[in-house]
Amino acid sequence: MQIDISSLDSLLQQADRIVLVGHFNPDGDALGSVSAAYHYLKGRGKHPRIILPSPYPDNMDFLEPDDPRDRMLVCENDLDAARSLVAGADTIICLDLNRLARTEYLEDDILAARGHKILIDHHIPVELDRFDLAISTTAVSSTCELLFWILMAMPDVAGDVQRIGPRCAESLYVGMMTDTNNFSNSVFPGTFEMASKLIARGVDKDGLQEKVLSCYSVSRTRLMGHLLKDKMKVLPAFKTAYMLLSNKEKDRYHFKPGDSEGFVNMPLAISSVKVSAFFTENFDSQYVRVSLRSKGEIDVNRFASRYFNGGGHRNASGGRLYMPLEDVPAYFEQALATWAKEEKFL
Ligand code: 5GP
Ligand code: MN
Repeated sequence: MQIDISSLDSLLQQADRIVLVGHFNPDGDALGSVSAAYHYLKGRGKHPRIILPSPYPDNMDFLEPDDPRDRMLVCENDLDAARSLVAGADTIICLDLNRLARTEYLEDDILAARGHKILIDHHIPVELDRFDLAISTTAVSSTCELLFWILMAMPDVAGDVQRIGPRCAESLYVGMMTDTNNFSNSVFPGTFEMASKLIARGVDKDGLQEKVLSCYSVSRTRLMGHLLKDKMKVLPAFKTAYMLLSNKEKDRYHFKPGDSEGFVNMPLAISSVKVSAFFTENFDSQYVRVSLRSKGEIDVNRFASRYFNGGGHRNASGGRLYMPLEDVPAYFEQALATWAKEEKFL
């Protein structure tokens, strides 16, 4: 992997007021990467702030900076403050997103901003023309893994993991652990190498696993049971299973942000299922969130971009449908039939 470290290092040397931006519905990798970058930059004497388009799940609160003045700024809570931070920044670093539209509210603000724009990400395609420097590869598990290798190559770290601070190290581990579903997908040799170095650095992997992965309520576990028993539809002819989650069901099971994390993976435990789709009604019913997963060579990234206004990776993608939840099954089954023919995966 070729990384243009000297350009990044010299942009950071000139920088002081830095904003770190993650994507809408921030997951562990978005949160881990903005948090790791925050701690690294603090260590270099900079003044970074983190902006997230929408709130994160409660269990990720431990990734917040210690200084209350530096708490992550959520656009949905205070869009004006987020916009003025972007406008006043000398450097804007986007992490774990490939297109500015993934910031939901800040695309125009970032485009209009005077600060240098840097991208660090592992999705394709990249909006190269919108950044002064883009560091992007799909040959990593996560943005956190990419950031780890970037930091290791920085002159001040110089390949010595002990020089990565404890909060930064912990944040990097969280993003890698969540994006790989705890080492079960998108794992590269470098991913284990990173994990091994971070654990040698003192990262408490069991503690993080408990905090991040074993953090759910009884009602969330019952919702999972309900979905698998009563909602999962299996389409053997298409080696596909899908589930729908409505706002009514969310209410019934006291749903909190993050509760549906991982649900889309569950049908893939069935040997005959090669594609899984999960549809969630948005709280204000304006759209339906789509999550797609696949096994092996089946490319749900193309499926997501063609039929679901989204994208992602070959085996894990997402998007949105602008239609009532009850119309989704017919649309999905039709789209699946067409796409299965195109992909020839049956
Ligand atoms: P998830 O299903 O976990 O929400 O998302 C899986 C993958 O798809 C993630 O890598 C995420 O970046 C990508 N993804 C999710 N939603 C969207 C979307 O609306 N647009 C695009 N382009 N990618 C998405
Ligand atoms: Mn990611």
